[in-house]
Formats: sequence, structure tokens, C-alpha cells
Amino acid sequence: MNEQKEKRKLELYIHIPFCLKKCGYCDFLSAPADEETRRAYCNQLIEEIRVQGSLTSDCRLATVFLGGGTPSSLTGIQIYNIMSAVYESFAVDSDAEITIECNPGTVDKEKLYGYRESGINRVSMGLQSANNEELKQLGRLHSYEDFLRSYELVRAAGFHNVNVDMISAIPNQTVRSWKSSLKKVMMLKPEHLSAYSLILEPGTPFYERYGSEEGKSALPDEDADREMYADTGRILEEYGLKQYEISNYAKPGYECRHNIGYWTGVEYLGLGLGASSLYLNHRYHSVRDLETYLHVRMREDLTPLYQDLEALTEADQMEEFMYLGLRMTRGVSGADFYERFGRNMFDLFAPQIRKNVVLKLLEQKASELRLTPRGMDLSNRVFADFYRALPRS
Ligand code: SF4
Repeated sequence: MNEQKEKRKLELYIHIPFCLKKCGYCDFLSAPADEETRRAYCNQLIEEIRVQGSLTSDCRLATVFLGGGTPSSLTGIQIYNIMSAVYESFAVDSDAEITIECNPGTVDKEKLYGYRESGINRVSMGLQSANNEELKQLGRLHSYEDFLRSYELVRAAGFHNVNVDMISAIPNQTVRSWKSSLKKVMMLKPEHLSAYSLILEPGTPFYERYGSEEGKSALPDEDADREMYADTGRILEEYGLKQYEISNYAKPGYECRHNIGYWTGVEYLGLGLGASSLYLNHRYHSVRDLETYLHVRMREDLTPLYQDLEALTEADQMEEFMYLGLRMTRGVSGADFYERFGRNMFDLFAPQIRKNVVLKLLEQKASELRLTPRGMDLSNRVFADFYRALPRS
């Protein structure tokens, strides 16, 4: 085994908290910012990358994910400088999956070639809907035509691994328009598609508008929501994308390695404003206030940077193994559980497994356990059973 492979596997998430405009449904840590703020943020982020790289020299990066916000709202040079700092500071696997999130209308030929130069090999595009009325409802700045232009540029720049993000259950959306959106996108043959149902997050304008009894009438009802979910799997399968997680579909071999890492307990470092980390069995996140972040003296004192440090007990880790692993269609394996914890998951979680098998939400095949199609629909109920299921000493 070579020296690189002997290092511990780690994933890196880099948060870019800037967007051109805030969308009405979004509760991510993101906001518009002027050029000077963006420049100061990039400089500070690069400092953080360098400092963290020196503290994790026993690790190798298997994946890097530039997420946001809208990473493509930065200039090509800024992304190049961020990625250069990553290569200089971390041992990056030669076959690492390196993703950048881009919004339609925020990329051009030059930027995209710059991404390739920076080693980025996967682009995730935030389309959300192929229907311009629905895009307006969401408060998105782009039209479907903007997306088409950006998608063509992404392909022309030589990206062979492209994800498209979609949202269902948009106000006034019909099952028919959802299906039509999916089919339009699938004609473009992306390698990967993520489809999430709209969630009304407290504190957002959407919550104000649609959270009341009256407002809710504009939202597709539960039956329509279920129908959209079932149609998604069916339509995408027709176009060669297989569901591999509750909300994710891919051509074989194009499943997102970074996200699979999250669901299988791989350690990750989150750098940048508000980013979450799981490192050495501790969970924490970076400070969420931009001014505070910009003033941390990275080389002298990282204390103000990291917050809500939580040590994960073995019980926490075993439960997470279950409810995160069950998100994937392949489910969880008793052999993997035993290899990691030296315990039998079927004994440890016997009541939770029995109950959900009886309810036909889980199915067991040999030493593997997975959600049934009905379980996929009601996954939150299943996960709740595994959350804090084990006794604490
Ligand atoms: S572009 Fe994405 S991250 Fe930015 S405000 Fe809209 S939904 Fe949120």
C-alpha cells in the first residue's frame, strides 16, 4: 500500500456563503455580499484551509465539495486560489471527486475552464424546475433557458459528471408539470439528479406565506407529493438513472461519493462560515456570523471559530450508522456494522428492526437491512426509531 493510502480518509466541504439574491424558501447560510466582502472572505478561507491542512497531515482527501450559497458567484481566479490552497495544504487523492455547485447564469466559458484547471471534475447545477413560472414562485433569478445555456457551457468545457438539483411540491405545481420538468431535464442526459420536496423552513418568507392553513392550500397535497416522488423514481429509471438514496439518482458509477461519505460515517471537515464537521468522533460547526469569521486570527487562536462541540459516544455512532446508512437503497450491512463496532446490529436494535419489518417499512435480506419502497416514503418514522434508541450509561 502506498504512503497516501495509509493516511486516514477525510472529506472536505468548503462553504461559500454568497448568492446574488436570497430565494424565498431558503434557510441556508447565504446572502448577497459586495466585492470587498467576497474578497476578504476568500482570503480568510484560504488561511483556514492552510491552518487546517497543517493540523490534518495524517489524512488524505477523498472528496472535496465547494457548496453554498453559490460558489459560482465567485470569480474563476478566487476558486482557483481556493483550490490551490487545498492542494498545497492537504494530501488530495489523485482520483478525488471534486464538486462545485453552480447556479444557472453564473458561469461562463472562462470560469468553467478555470474550474477544470483547478482539478474540479463534477458540477452540480441548481435548476430546481424547468418551468419558468415555478422558478419565479421560488424567487430564483434564472429561467430554464438560462439553465440550458449554462448546461451547454458545462458540457463544452468537458465536464462528464453533472448533477442537476430539482425541487418538487412547489406552490401551485401539478404532478403533470413536475413530470414534464423531469423529462425535459432527462433529455439532456445528466449523470446525476437530486430531487427534494420543498420544506417550509421557519423564518423564511415562504414559511410566512404558505405556513398558515390558508397558505397551505397553494401547496400540492400529500397525495400529490407522494405521486411526484413515485413518478420521479419511475421516470429517472427509464432514462438510466437509478435511485441510490431517498432523494438521489445516478447512472451506475456516478453516485456522489462525497454524500455517500456523509451517510457512511466518513470523517469530514467543513471549512468556511457555518460549515459542519465530523472529526475524531466530534461534531461541531464554524461560527455563523460573517464579521466574527472574518476576524478570527487563524494562525493564533482558532477558539472563536468552532462552536457546539459535541463528543459522539459509541451509542451515538451506532445509531447514526443505522439512520444515515438506511437512507441509501443498499441499506446497511450487519458485516460492516460488526467490522466497525464489533457488535451485532440485529441484536442491538432488535426491537426497532422487528417493529419496522412488521410494518413493512424495513426488509432484511441475509445480513442486510434496507428500507422497503413504503419505508422510503415514510423514512422519517423509521429513522426516529433508531434515534437515541440505545441506553446511555
Ligand atoms: S441560490 Fe440556493 S443557496 Fe442561494 S438563496 Fe437561493 S436556494 Fe439559497
